[in-house]
Amino acid sequence: MTDTDHAAARRDLVAALRRRLDVSERTLSAIEAVPRHEFVPEAHVDSAYDDRPLPIGHEQTVSAPHMVAVMTDLLDVERGDRVLEVGTGCGYHAAVVAEIVGPGSVFSAERVPELAADARERLARLGYDVTVTAGDGRDAFVDSAPFDAAYLTCAAPESVPEAILDRVQPGGRVVAPVSAGGEQRLVRLTVRADGVDREDHGGVRFVPLR
Ligand code: SAH
Repeated sequence: MTDTDHAAARRDLVAALRRRLDVSERTLSAIEAVPRHEFVPEAHVDSAYDDRPLPIGHEQTVSAPHMVAVMTDLLDVERGDRVLEVGTGCGYHAAVVAEIVGPGSVFSAERVPELAADARERLARLGYDVTVTAGDGRDAFVDSAPFDAAYLTCAAPESVPEAILDRVQPGGRVVAPVSAGGEQRLVRLTVRADGVDREDHGGVRFVPLR
C-alpha cells in the first residue's frame, strides 16, 4: 500500500467512527492525523486501519481505533494540557493525544524497555514531542506533576492506583480500564479535593497493569 492508500483507508476509518461513536470532531481529527500504519509491526501494516486491536510484540496489543477515540474523548483535554499515559506500547495512543494537547505535553511510561525505546524513536521520527520513560507508570514522572489528565492503557486491578490519582490536579480526569469481578469496566474518574467522582463507560478488554 502507498501513503495515498493509507490516507484513504484512514479517512474511511474516521468516517465509520463518526457514524458509530458519539465523540468530538477534535478527537476524530486527531485520529485522522496519526499514521497508525507507522506504529504497527510490518506484518500488520495492511490491517492498520481496520478497527481492531493489533499485536505489537512482547504479548502486548495496540487498542482498536474506536477504543483510542473513546478514551481520548473522555480525557476531555485541550491544547497545552499536561497528560500522563501509563502504557506507551507502540506510542499510537500517545500520538493521538499529542495531536490535541500539542508538543511537550504528553508524558508516557512503559514497563517493557524495548517497547519504550521503540516508541520513543518512532514518536520522535514522526515529529511527536512526547516524553517516554521505561518503567512502572505508578511511579514515573513524579517531578512533572501535576497533570490535567491521566489514562491507563492497561487494566488496573480493582481501582486506579492512588499514586496516579495523586499526580492529577483537582478537576482533572483519569480514564482507565479497571478489573472488577472477573470483567473490566472503562471508568472516568474526576479528581476532587475530597475524593473522586466515578462514571462507568461499559465493558472493555485490556492487557493487565503489571
Ligand atoms: N497505548 C498503547 C497500548 C499498549 S498496551 C499503544 O498505543 O500501543 C498496554 C501497555 O501497558 C503494554 O505495552 C504494557 O507493557 C504496559 N504496561 C503494563 N503495566 C505497566 C506499568 N505498570 N507501567 C507502565 N506500563 C505498563
